[in-house]
Amino acid sequence: MNHSRRGVIRRLSIAALGTSVLGACAPSYQQSTAYISHPRKLPKVKVSKDRVIKETVGLRPFREGGPRIEKQELGNKVIVHNYGHGGSGWSLSWGTALLASELVDTTNQRQVAVMGCGVVGLSTARTLQKKGYEVTIYTKDSYPNITSAMATGTWSPTSRLIKPDRVTPAFAAMYQKACTHSFQTFQRLLGLNHVVDWMDSYRISNGQSTRSDYSNELKDKLVTPEVDFYPKGIPLSRKENPFKYSNVSKSPTTIFNIPAYLKMLQDDFLLAGGNIQVKEFKKPEDVDALPFSCIVNCTGLGAQEIFGDEELMPVSGQLCFLIPQPELNYRANMSGVYFIPRQDGIMLGGNGIDNNWNTTPDPEVRDRYLHALEEMMKNLRS
Ligand SMILES: Cc1cc2nc3c(=O)[nH]c(=O)nc-3n(C[C@H](O)[C@H](O)[C@H](O)COP(=O)(O)OP(=O)(O)OC[C@H]3O[C@@H](n4cnc5c(N)ncnc54)[C@H](O)[C@@H]3O)c2cc1C
Repeated sequence: MNHSRRGVIRRLSIAALGTSVLGACAPSYQQSTAYISHPRKLPKVKVSKDRVIKETVGLRPFREGGPRIEKQELGNKVIVHNYGHGGSGWSLSWGTALLASELVDTTNQRQVAVMGCGVVGLSTARTLQKKGYEVTIYTKDSYPNITSAMATGTWSPTSRLIKPDRVTPAFAAMYQKACTHSFQTFQRLLGLNHVVDWMDSYRISNGQSTRSDYSNELKDKLVTPEVDFYPKGIPLSRKENPFKYSNVSKSPTTIFNIPAYLKMLQDDFLLAGGNIQVKEFKKPEDVDALPFSCIVNCTGLGAQEIFGDEELMPVSGQLCFLIPQPELNYRANMSGVYFIPRQDGIMLGGNGIDNNWNTTPDPEVRDRYLHALEEMMKNLRS
């Protein structure tokens, strides 16, 4: 880690954020971990090929320079871009929606179109509605045929967000504002039909480096003590450790129950008077033809074709789902493979292939996930 660089970024970011964000500093769970209990026995995942119920390959919309949140003039229309969130789109959805809405605020328009009905489009549309805008969403697809429906759904605001050497002080400030607003909004959704939950997460280190998504490097550059929403992992003693592995840590983490969450967002949008139109855009002229002067572009990877953004690239991620087991109340990861018990299945995942448009699940990846999970379960104390 480059401490002097981090220090500069931190000072500049804090200055840019102002007191309102700093007032909402990192939550108190980081000061005290005394409340955490460590159950020695955990329920086991039943692992076998015949319990696989679903496989997906989603394409993360990654840009080396990070998400594009900016205003562009197109003829006599204003386009506000909000896309390219990589592996952090769920986590930062409310935050970048707020930033995009602030750009819309500068246009004097009260009726706005939003392109795209993924988590970013829906969160942006809801944020605008709450500010009093009349919003129409135009989209070619909605749940379940969108990237947002094929995500893991954990709090991971630094996952494949930006190439670490492209982080600037302005980006760090933007990240910290977005991250803070998102985290706080998610905590207000707790208790609402489990669309957002907290869960214990076990990390098993076996000497192999597991993260290839820039997350750790980005944490060094973007996370400051004042704006740190990553609960720290606690190394478990032998007495506390439910696994036979020696190097295990545990931290609480936020998870999103994706199908219920997306349905809630869409229902809330319609109940508040929103309108959803099915429409595919191919080129800027299609956007120009919309009967709105201000249009927010939340088309994720779609922006490559519509607006010719060559910096956008797909980073594919395969997930495999086993029959749900409601008794499971923890997640774990080892050697780059993780499982998370969601209401719609026990999800296994962990891969990412740059520049891969292929969305056909690879049986070898599925078998690797199943094998890793079987190993984890064999090493769970009974
Ligand atoms: C395997 C995997 C795991 C992930 N895990 C996490 C995680 O744990 N945490 C996290 O924060 N993020 C995660 N992500 C990232 C996250 O899913 C994305 O960043 C996020 O879904 C992007 O949302 P979006 O709304 O921009 O895009 P999308 O969900 O792709 O939505 C784009 C919308 O635009 C519409 N559209 C696109 N092109 C056009 C067009 N030409 N005309 C009209 N409409 C169009 C689409 O139909 C869709 O409605 C993961 C992603 C993957 C693939």
